[in-house]
Amino acid sequence: MTTRPILTLPDPVLRKVSAPVERVDDELRGLLDDMLETMYAAPGIGLAAIQIGVPRRVFVLDVTEEGEPPQPLCLVNPEIVALGPETRLHEEGCLSIPDVRVEIERPSTVTVRYIDRSGQLQELAAEGLLATAIQHEINHLDGKLIIDFLSSLKRDMVVRKFKKQARSAEVL
Ligand SMILES: [Zn+2]
Repeated sequence: MTTRPILTLPDPVLRKVSAPVERVDDELRGLLDDMLETMYAAPGIGLAAIQIGVPRRVFVLDVTEEGEPPQPLCLVNPEIVALGPETRLHEEGCLSIPDVRVEIERPSTVTVRYIDRSGQLQELAAEGLLATAIQHEINHLDGKLIIDFLSSLKRDMVVRKFKKQARSAEVL
């Protein structure tokens, strides 16, 4: 297992739409292991493959609290099959947009169908933080980021800040 560098704004790769995975094999399981290691090291509660530059429809999650035993989840080709009627407001962060938090209202329950790391089809009914995180990560697979929930004015401000940071990092 290796940790991989996490792409950050304004990297255009983050806007790519990821392609479905064709086969769950050892190569994919190796990618999932690297993603988990990268997510835990960051630390974060979720990471999509595109965030390490791999445009495949895969993400990993672990929303357990500190001190609880870890419960890593690997979702391959996830698809939302149902969204509940209630909503939940949560201040979301993103490993690709450090130090930015956006309050987002999303359905509070979600049912997701996916393939697990052994290649089995699974269905998961999630609520609360897990439901929020699943929707956040599926957005990544479609090239959508939390800043897209902001007004265009605020979004431009954030993007400008990151472009400026990227430029000054280059000259140093
Ligand atoms: Zn994110």
